[in-house]
Amino acid sequence: MHTNRIRIVLVHTSHPGNIGGVARAMKNMGLGRLYLVQPKRFPDHEADWRAASAQDVLADAVVCESVEQAISDCHFVVGTSARGRRIPWPLQNPRQCAPQIAQAADNGEVAILFGREDRGLTNEELQQCHLHLNIPTSEAYSSLNLAMAVQIVAYELKMHEVGEGDPAEAQWDAPFSTNEEVERFYQHLEQTLVDIEFLNPAAPRQLMTRLRRLYSRVRLDEMELNILRGILTETQKWVQRVKSSKE
Ligand code: SAH
Repeated sequence: MHTNRIRIVLVHTSHPGNIGGVARAMKNMGLGRLYLVQPKRFPDHEADWRAASAQDVLADAVVCESVEQAISDCHFVVGTSARGRRIPWPLQNPRQCAPQIAQAADNGEVAILFGREDRGLTNEELQQCHLHLNIPTSEAYSSLNLAMAVQIVAYELKMHEVGEGDPAEAQWDAPFSTNEEVERFYQHLEQTLVDIEFLNPAAPRQLMTRLRRLYSRVRLDEMELNILRGILTETQKWVQRVKSSKE
C-alpha cells in the first residue's frame, strides 16, 4: 500500500494537543503526511508533548490556508463526519472504506479530512469529498475525540495493509505441503491403520473421511508431514517385526 500518498488533513483544529495526538496515531499506524488547515495554535509545546515520539510528523506537517489548497493535487478525497447531512453523500465506515482508499493511493494522491472539534466539517467542505466516512458509535454520543477518530481510520488502513500479504505464511519456517504430498500421507496413514488392524478394509466406515477432516483443519507443513510419515514408517516396521517373530 502506498501509505506515503495518503495525507491526513485537519481542518481548523482548536486544540494543539489534538494535533499531537493525531501525529502519534498516524505514526503508530505508518502514516506520515499531516496537513493542517489554519490551525489555531501551531507549533505548540502541547502538540509536541502529545506527539511523544512522532515529533517528526509534526516537523514535516504542511500548514495551509484553505481546504482547497490542502487537497488540490488529490484525486480521491474522503471526508469524515460524526453526523448525517441533509443531502446524504455516499457513506461508508472505516473498514469498508480502507480498500478503496488503498486502491486510490496506488494511483495517486489521497486525502482524508477531519473537522473542527466543536463543529466538524462544514457542508461545503464535505461536498468537496467523494465519500463520507462515518465511524459507527452509540447513538447517544456519536462525536469522537479528533485524535481517536484518526486512530480508528488509520488502524483500519493498517489492518487492510496487513491483510494484503499473508504474514502467517511469510513468517513460517517451513514450506507448506502440497496436495500431492498430503494425499501420499493419507495413503500411508490408511495402509498403516490396516497394518495395525485398526482399520478393516472390508468395513472402513467413515474413518478416513474423519481423519482427512481432522488433518485438513491445519495446514501441515513439510516438516510436520515428514514427522508424521516417519512415525508411520516406524510403526509399520514394528508390525513387520512382530509378525515375522510370530512366524
Ligand atoms: N461535533 C462535531 C464533531 C467534531 S469531532 C460534529 O457534530 O460534527 C471532530 C472530528 O472528528 C470530526 O469533524 C470528524 O472528522 C471526526 N469524527 C469524530 N467522530 C466521528 C465519527 N463518529 N465518525 C467519523 N468521524 C468522526
